[in-house]
Amino acid sequence: MRDNDWTKILGWPGYRVYRQEIDEIAKTLKLWVKRKRGNRKLVCSGCGRKIAEAADITEREVRDLSCFEYRTTVLIELYRVRCPTCGLKVEKVDQLPSKAPFSKRFEEAVGQACESASARQVARRFGLAQSTVRAIDLRYLERWAATRKKPALRQMGVDEIYLGKKQKFITVVSNLETAEPVWFGVERKKDTLDTFFKEELDQPQRLEIEAACVDMWTPFRLSIEQWTPQCRIVYDKFHIMQHANKAIDEVRRAEFFRKGKQMRGLVKGKRWLLLTRWVNLTASKRQELNALFALNRKLLKAYLLKESLDRLWNYRYEGAMLNYLQRWIDQLWWQRLSSFQKLANMLLYHLDGIFNYCRTKVPLGVVEAVNGNIKALLRRGRGYKNLRYLLLKAQIMAASRTEFVAFSKAA
Ligand SMILES: [Zn+2]
Repeated sequence: MRDNDWTKILGWPGYRVYRQEIDEIAKTLKLWVKRKRGNRKLVCSGCGRKIAEAADITEREVRDLSCFEYRTTVLIELYRVRCPTCGLKVEKVDQLPSKAPFSKRFEEAVGQACESASARQVARRFGLAQSTVRAIDLRYLERWAATRKKPALRQMGVDEIYLGKKQKFITVVSNLETAEPVWFGVERKKDTLDTFFKEELDQPQRLEIEAACVDMWTPFRLSIEQWTPQCRIVYDKFHIMQHANKAIDEVRRAEFFRKGKQMRGLVKGKRWLLLTRWVNLTASKRQELNALFALNRKLLKAYLLKESLDRLWNYRYEGAMLNYLQRWIDQLWWQRLSSFQKLANMLLYHLDGIFNYCRTKVPLGVVEAVNGNIKALLRRGRGYKNLRYLLLKAQIMAASRTEFVAFSKAA
């Protein structure tokens, strides 16, 4: 095949192939390219300034997409320029997005593969180290983030995610309208959220926020009140039900220790059952739970309380919501369920934020969904030491889902 044909097949704009090498045993293809005659524009890779003359010539080798069964590398002739600001620098070439030895479209192929497969799978497919795949993916995501328009933040969610013994908690700020995480911060202090308001938003952007769905966690509330005083704080169902789950788990543990050996066997391993809503249980699981309740009335009462609290958000009028909550709290009398009494006190203390759900329409379940996506990523990826990478990954996941929804609607 002639160099001219290879130039067409390679398809690098402005470049032509002037030498080729095929190794049939190793199954490799090497192509040497240089600028086409008309292509003389030089740009400094440091600052983007146009430079008239080249200082000298160098060569770089990058991996490109495979050609059939042949692993393909391209050796590119590059100029170095003497830039008034940056000094001696290599020229900027569109096909080379970074200093790493890969072409732009090779990095794009790896990044796209990472959207639906784990780094380990992608590494095997492309014959790369896992760490290399992650580095390519991160650059791919950074380029994606740099070119897209950031949606305005009008309704925000603030949540915390437990990463493990070492990293402990991170604070997650999300956009409730687009269902995507916006920012991650280390720890869950007032300082943490302050940093978000200070560094990520300017004053007009802060004033644009109308509602925030948060947990009943004082540091977050204080930060929101300080930075966006006009914003309505909404204590949403997801967070309150998390507290209800904690309360039922406390009852379970207390019963486990209070009763003898026989009871322990029964309560053991039932945590998940007690935390799952009745509608989501299969017939056999319901039977299992009923058998447990037949032996322990306290657990039954706790479970019913949790189930009925869930219905509080069926009411969209403050008065009706208050009535329902009052009746729910009345049920607690004489029950001797101290963890639920504690929960009731907490709800009474945060009443205003609970009713704000009726005053400001916020989408239910978004904070929970964002939280779930991040946890799924963490499970699949095993150890995101780089929080920026985790954030971008969760963002592209949310964005591609919206695109998919928009597409299916059109169809
Ligand atoms: Zn420069």
